[in-house]
Amino acid sequence: MLTQRETLEIACPLCAKIHRYSMKIEKTIVVGFGSRERQWTFTRLFTCPVKNEDFQALIRIQQGSNERIDNIEIEKKISL
Ligand SMILES: [Zn+2]
Repeated sequence: MLTQRETLEIACPLCAKIHRYSMKIEKTIVVGFGSRERQWTFTRLFTCPVKNEDFQALIRIQQGSNERIDNIEIEKKISL
């Protein structure tokens, strides 16, 4: 399994600021899996560090060919 980290910048619907989060993506390369490159859209919960409340946001993840995405985790806020 491959683990990949990405930084997300999300415009917060609660306080209208941009927050940064770290996202962990676990994926497996499956030879012959046959999946094509495509973009997935997921909804995840984020916590606004200003108001300390949760909000939902859409995130997009690029999947390469023959990749299977196993897990997506929002790790933490990096900064305001
Ligand atoms: Zn916020």
